This record gives sequence, C-alpha cells and structure tokens, in this order.
Amino acid sequence: MKKILSVFLAVFICLFACNLSAYPATQSELKKKISEADEKIAKAKKDLQEAKNKQASAEKQKELIDNQISEIVSNIVYLNGQITSANEQIAQKEEEIEIAQAKLDENKEYFKSRVLSMYKSGTSTYMELLFGADNMGDFLNRVDMLQYVVKNDKKIVDEMTEARDAVIEAKAVIEERKADLEDSKVLSEQQKSSLDSALAQQQEIIAQLGQEIKVNEKEAAEAQKEKDALNRQLEQELSGYNAPSGGASTYSGGKMAWPTPQGGTITCPFGYRTYPSVGMHTGLDIGIRYGSTIAAAEAGTVIKVVNGTTGYGKYLMINHGGGVVTLYAHSSKIVVQVGEYVERGQKIAEIGSTGFSTGPHLHFEVRINGKAVNPIGYIT
Ligand SMILES: [Zn+2]
Repeated sequence: MKKILSVFLAVFICLFACNLSAYPATQSELKKKISEADEKIAKAKKDLQEAKNKQASAEKQKELIDNQISEIVSNIVYLNGQITSANEQIAQKEEEIEIAQAKLDENKEYFKSRVLSMYKSGTSTYMELLFGADNMGDFLNRVDMLQYVVKNDKKIVDEMTEARDAVIEAKAVIEERKADLEDSKVLSEQQKSSLDSALAQQQEIIAQLGQEIKVNEKEAAEAQKEKDALNRQLEQELSGYNAPSGGASTYSGGKMAWPTPQGGTITCPFGYRTYPSVGMHTGLDIGIRYGSTIAAAEAGTVIKVVNGTTGYGKYLMINHGGGVVTLYAHSSKIVVQVGEYVERGQKIAEIGSTGFSTGPHLHFEVRINGKAVNPIGYIT
C-alpha cells in the first residue's frame, strides 16, 4: 500500500513538474517554424510585388490622364487665342461698317439734295446748269451731262451699299465662327474637369497602394527577422548537438554518474506524454533542494553556456565525444565556461528554477548524435 501510494505520488509530482517544465523547440519544430516564416515571407513578397505592379499601372494611367489634360489645356489656350482674335476682327468689322455707313449716308444725302434741287427748285445748280445754255445744241449736251451725273451718283450709292453689306456679312461669318469656338471651349472645359477628377482618383489609388506597399514591406521584413532568429536558434541547436570541440574524442560508452551527487528523485521521466499536454519530454527531471550541486555526468568539454531567458533557463551542454552530449537545465548558477574541460563528477552548476519551471529541479538530457534519448539507460 505504501509502495502504491509513493508511485502515485511520484506520478502526481511528475505531472505537476512536467506541466511547469520547459521543453525545448526541437530541430524539427524549428525547421517547421522556419518554413512557416518562409511562407510568410513569400506571401508578403508576392503581395508586395502585386501592389507594386498595381501602382505602376496606376502611375501609367495617371501619366496618360496627365498627357490628356495638358493636351486639353493647350487646346483651351488655342481656343482662347482664336476667340480673342475673332473679337478683334469683329471690332474691326464694326468700325469698317460704321465708316462705310457714314460714307453711304453722306453720299445719299448729297445725291438726294442734288436730285431734289433738280426736280423741285428752279434755282438749283442743275437748273442753272441747264438754263445757262447758249443754244439748243448746248442745252441738249447739258441734259446728257446731267443725266450722266445723276446715273453716276446712283451708281456710287449702290456700290457703297454693296460694300457696306459685304462688311456686315463678313462680320456675321466671324461671329458664327466665334460661337463655334466658344462651343468647343465649353466642351474642352467639360472634358478637362472630368479628367481632373479621374486624375484625383488615380492619385488616391496610388497613395493607397503606397500604404499597402509599406505594410507588405514591413511584414516581409518582420517575417525575415523572425526567420533569422529561428535560423540562429537552429544553428545553436545544431552546434550543440553535433559539434564536438576538444576534450574526449571518443565516448567510453560506460555508465554516467548521477548528475546530482546529493541525491534527488525523478519527478518526471523521459518520454512521450499525453497529459497535461501532448509532446515529447526530452529529458529526465530530478527534483532536489535549491542550490544543490549539479555535476558533470561524464568528463568532457563544455560546449554551450546559456544564461539567457530561454525555456531552459540557465543551462549548459557538455560534449563527451563520440557524438554524446549532455544538457543540464533550469540551474540557478553555472560555474564553468565554454571550452572548459570538466572531469566526471565535477561541479558545473547549482540547482535552480530558471526558465519555465516553478520548482527547483534539474532537467537532464542525453543526446546521441543530436537526438535526445532516455538518460536512464546511460546513468548508474
Ligand atoms: Zn524536464
């Protein structure tokens, strides 16, 4: 009964400890995260390229509209010039009409007075001319001459009327042309205003795409940063697993020493767990009083000392040669340095609860060629 109870208690403590212990990102987990980061980078870059393409085509569209606007504007300038010149011509024609009219009126007046004198007043110049004749022959000559004068006066008036009418007609033609020009100008101004709004719209689209580009660039950069960090982590893991540096070149293959010489109990075994969370527990948890000694399980070279804030807390790794590496996690204090050769049983650290751990314990791993194995088979 006592034995059953203690096993039950051990399992209970183990579940508790496991729940609070940290488990390292394995190489495959890291690789999976890296490929996820790669996907994120690829997607962000694809989105970025799409936004850039869209922006380029919007810029092209904007340029097209710009060109159309400058064409329309130069057309409006041209039309304004034409309208101004038509106005000048009209003013000139008006002046010409006035002059022609004045001349005509003057001549009409003169002609009328001469004719009137001829028919109504006996003392007019015409009559004087006629009655001043010396004989019949002279008189008839004078009648002929008079008729000629009258005819000529009328002809002059007719010609002047015609000339004036021609100017009036020319003015009407110019006015018609001016009206056409004004219609064209109104049309051009309407086109310009619709092109102006199209331009504003394109500018807005370009600005929006600019924002999108910024966001995509930021996303790509962040994913790249994340990937770089993961790669560094993976590199560390790989070097920790596979890079023997100095010390013993081969592993004796013998049993390792218990890593906590002052005792301790296994609170969580190595292996696959389904409770409280699913996953692999890559090491052995040994529960023991805070500050107890952590000793090298075998002679070897310290290849990694981490005093950071990882899930492992403060931890170190020792390479024993022959592809065998041990790892000691959650310590409160590490007393060796990278590159240092340590003897079997030499103090390397002190028990703590750093990283993802709430109770003092040692998370002890044995890795063979980079793969965590059950330490139980390796320790006495
Ligand atoms: Zn553990």
